[in-house]
Amino acid sequence: MYISILGFLLGIFLGSFLNCISVRLASNKSFTKGRSQCVWCNHDLDWNDLFPILSFLFLKGKCRYCKKKISWQYPISEILFGLVVATHFYFFDGNILNLVLQIVISSFLFIIFFYDLNHCLIPVDLVYWGIGVYSLYGFVNGYFSSWDKAFPILLGIFIPAGFFWLLYALSGEKWMGAGDVKLMLLLGFLGMPNVLISLLIAVISGGIIGLILIVSKKKTPKSEIPFGPFLIAGYWIALFWGQNLMQLYFNFLFQ
Ligand SMILES: [Zn+2]
Repeated sequence: MYISILGFLLGIFLGSFLNCISVRLASNKSFTKGRSQCVWCNHDLDWNDLFPILSFLFLKGKCRYCKKKISWQYPISEILFGLVVATHFYFFDGNILNLVLQIVISSFLFIIFFYDLNHCLIPVDLVYWGIGVYSLYGFVNGYFSSWDKAFPILLGIFIPAGFFWLLYALSGEKWMGAGDVKLMLLLGFLGMPNVLISLLIAVISGGIIGLILIVSKKKTPKSEIPFGPFLIAGYWIALFWGQNLMQLYFNFLFQ
């Protein structure tokens, strides 16, 4: 329990830092040079403007300098990443390298999640980095040490992504973006059958939220709704609770 609280605190700070990177990614600024600035007035921000969640509350959601509104997305995304890292910590099995690698992968996914949400575009460079780190994770954990272990992972990587690619190719990018195909390669490291659970969650939640947005007239059936955030949310749920969900499903089926 205490370790999860530690994870949550680490997660909100990491989330705040990743948000800064994300803003720089969108504006093509250098990741490391220069200070963080207000997106409206470009005023340099101090540490007490950037403190996760608390700065937002203390400043009542407005920039200290120009008083323009700061997006709700900052505190919400920080809390979300706090919960993700807390759950990584909760399932910590004593292997620190695995914990670090999984948090690095989740960090890439966190940036992709909000980038796609805001720009309807998946930053594929980050997907490639994620595939690199996940390959390392797989190598360290003997995913590819025998055919028996490699087989479900390879199926997980290539079958859903292959299906996505088919949708992409057949529809001329209307039903599925090229970025989603590549993202699916990364998420496929969950392996079979867990990746199917993540897909199921993505399709159901995406369908429900898409429907709500259309009914509430925030979107039309023709407007683009990014699929990446749903895929990534499905990944996190399947990664942490996929086994339990499968157990629940089979108990329900054979009760
Ligand atoms: Zn400002």
